[in-house]
Amino acid sequence: MSARVIFLGAPGAGKGTQARALAAEWGVPQVATGDMLREAVAAKTPLGLEAKRHMDSGGLVPDDVVIGLVEERLARPDGAAGFVLDGFPRTTAQAQALDAMLKRRGQSIDRVVFLEVGREELLRRLTGRRVCPKCGAAFHLVSAPPRTAGRCDNCGAELTQRSDDTREAVATRLDVYEKQTAPLLAYYRDRGLLATVPGEGAMPRVAADIRRAVGRAVPA
Ligand SMILES: [Zn+2]
Repeated sequence: MSARVIFLGAPGAGKGTQARALAAEWGVPQVATGDMLREAVAAKTPLGLEAKRHMDSGGLVPDDVVIGLVEERLARPDGAAGFVLDGFPRTTAQAQALDAMLKRRGQSIDRVVFLEVGREELLRRLTGRRVCPKCGAAFHLVSAPPRTAGRCDNCGAELTQRSDDTREAVATRLDVYEKQTAPLLAYYRDRGLLATVPGEGAMPRVAADIRRAVGRAVPA
C-alpha cells in the first residue's frame, strides 16, 4: 500500500516538523521543495542552474522547473513506497501538473493535510525570532527565550529583530500565502482529498490528529 501525502500550511504552521516525523515513521522521503531547490543549485544540475538564473534576477522559479525537480526526486528508488510533499504544490497550476505527472506513473495522491493555524498565532510565532548582531545566536521569545530578556546568552549583546520578522513584513508574507493557497485548498476539497487538522495544540496532539486524518493512507 502506498502513502502519498501532501502537507499544506502557512509559514509558521509547523508543517515541516510534522511532515518530517510522518515521513520517518513511514520510511518514505519528505520532499521539501525549498531544500531541493537549494540542493540543485549547489549541485549545479541543469535544473538547478536554470533555477539559479531566475533567483539571481529576483524572479520566482517557474512552475516547470519546480515540477521537473519534483519529478526527478520522486523517480528515485526511495520514492516507490510513497512520499510526503512539503512546500509543493503552491499553486493550482502546480497541483494540476503534479496530478498529470503521477497519472503517467500510474499513481495518485492519497490525502492532503491542511495544518490550520489562526493568523494571530502565526504572527506570534513568526515575529518572535530575535538574533544577536554580534555573534549570530538565534532566540525565540516563545520557544527559545534568552536567559536575560533582550540579551544574548553567549555574549550579552542586545538582541535585535530582522527586518523580515517584523509584524508588518510577516503580515504581508501571510497575505501572499493566503491568496495563493485558497484556490489550492478548493482544488483538493473538490477532489475529496482535503483533511483540515487544527495546528495550534501541543505537538503530540497535532501529530495524533494528522495520523487520524491520513489513516487510510498508512501502510499496512
Ligand atoms: Zn551574541
